[in-house]
Amino acid sequence: MTERFKSLLHDIFKNKILSKDFSLYIHRPTATDNSFAPEGCDSFYVLCPVPNLQGNVEWDKESENLKDRIISELSKTIMPKLEETITDIFWMNPKDFKQDYNSMHGSGFSIAPIFTQSAWFRYHNRDKKIKNLFFSAAGSHPGAGIPGVLSSAKVVENIIKSEFHK
Ligand SMILES: Cc1cc2nc3c(=O)[nH]c(=O)nc-3n(C[C@H](O)[C@H](O)[C@H](O)COP(=O)(O)OP(=O)(O)OC[C@H]3O[C@@H](n4cnc5c(N)ncnc54)[C@H](O)[C@@H]3O)c2cc1C
Repeated sequence: MTERFKSLLHDIFKNKILSKDFSLYIHRPTATDNSFAPEGCDSFYVLCPVPNLQGNVEWDKESENLKDRIISELSKTIMPKLEETITDIFWMNPKDFKQDYNSMHGSGFSIAPIFTQSAWFRYHNRDKKIKNLFFSAAGSHPGAGIPGVLSSAKVVENIIKSEFHK
């Protein structure tokens, strides 16, 4: 975590700029699944929240810099010698999310999970106007994340079952 919290979120979501500091989410899949790395190796995944493409970040230039800054920071703090031990690396930025997944504004998590777009307030699973049109997954009720997306599919399954198998 960086020293500041609220103003970092402001930089990401309101000012839409790439800050010098960052807060990171780190996951080590090999802790529970050793098929995620060759024997004797480990794998780590780092998520760094950044502005989506509504900001003016020059991702072609900044992406690699950011990756290097993250590795350097981790090496200096909780993962000593990381820089020297990496054998394989892969990273993505919002431009890739747009290009590879057709995601609006290169967003990684669909519409923002603010109060008025969360849970019941998220896009409903049944279209308001078009009969027999249903929505599931991250942008719809109940929300993003694998548990949310699977629940959303369950909701749609139940609606369809109750509609068509009376
Ligand atoms: C970096 C990151 C880390 C995450 N970490 C976690 C985590 O630790 N735990 C967790 O629970 N969730 C996590 N999530 C969230 C979770 O991955 C998503 O909420 C979930 O994958 C969304 O599922 P989805 O089916 O809605 O969309 P997606 O998985 O994005 O699938 C949509 C698919 O539709 C395709 N597509 C788009 N347009 C078209 C088109 N016109 N025609 C055909 N196909 C199209 C895309 O290419 C894509 O394959 C993370 C997300 C990100 C970005």
